[in-house]
Amino acid sequence: MLREGWSRPIEGVDVWHRHAGTGPTVLLTAGVHGDEYEGPAALIECIDHLRYTPVTGRVIVIPVANPMAWRGASRLSPEDGLNLARVFPGKAHGTPTEHLASQIWTLAEEADFLIDLHSGGSDYTFLPLAGYYGNASLDAACRFGLPVLWNLPETNGVLSCEMHRCGKTAVGCEYLGGGQLSRPGVQAYTRGVRSCLALWGLLPNEQPRPANGDRYTGDWMLAEAEGAFVATARLGDMVEAGASLATIRNTRGEPLQEFKAATHGRVLAIRSKGYIRKGDWGVLVAKYA
Ligand SMILES: [Zn+2]
Repeated sequence: MLREGWSRPIEGVDVWHRHAGTGPTVLLTAGVHGDEYEGPAALIECIDHLRYTPVTGRVIVIPVANPMAWRGASRLSPEDGLNLARVFPGKAHGTPTEHLASQIWTLAEEADFLIDLHSGGSDYTFLPLAGYYGNASLDAACRFGLPVLWNLPETNGVLSCEMHRCGKTAVGCEYLGGGQLSRPGVQAYTRGVRSCLALWGLLPNEQPRPANGDRYTGDWMLAEAEGAFVATARLGDMVEAGASLATIRNTRGEPLQEFKAATHGRVLAIRSKGYIRKGDWGVLVAKYA
């Protein structure tokens, strides 16, 4: 691989790389879902910075990890209908998405640290947050600088989760969504990535940001019916246990399912699309941890 510059070690995927001096290896990914835009834009800005600043170690940057989904502006790969964020470490001889995952995983195995940038995509919206797994990645998540820290539930096939299971430090971030590209999100992601690179010793001329963020723990409530998704709760609301958050209604307006808060907590994320199917995410209420 080049000491610095763009290459295509993975077929069809642009990878930027810089290797200088002695230090750890960091993998930065975005565009695992093709309808999320802050992460790819932020990683391009990070590359522009990394070209001209001293680096000690190795940085591998993949702004758009899933070009199939990116071209489709979709969460899933149109080629096989799979979610790249559920198939890591992938299969070398699997479907196009599984094959892609196995190639990205080859780079991930060389990395000591991972930051994977997401957003809510077309269908969801998240409070700006840094997600972490246990204590190993909590410090990095705090230094990312976003106001919310989410103790990520372990989910098979998610890049950050599988890296965490291999003993690596992995952070996964979210910033709004709804298919938009938030300029403040791009700026926050760029600052956060640089802060973590400084924390991990790759940027000798920069300091990590002070620790920040309130810790929350919780997971999504899923739809058990199909219909209109009528939300009453709003992103960021503090809610009491039992509070009504959203209802799924049929074409006669009759309620099919009501989402109620299981605990006192905060709405960290909510579906932004007005239609929902069985198994889709509805509302994520997390409690202060
Ligand atoms: Zn995503």
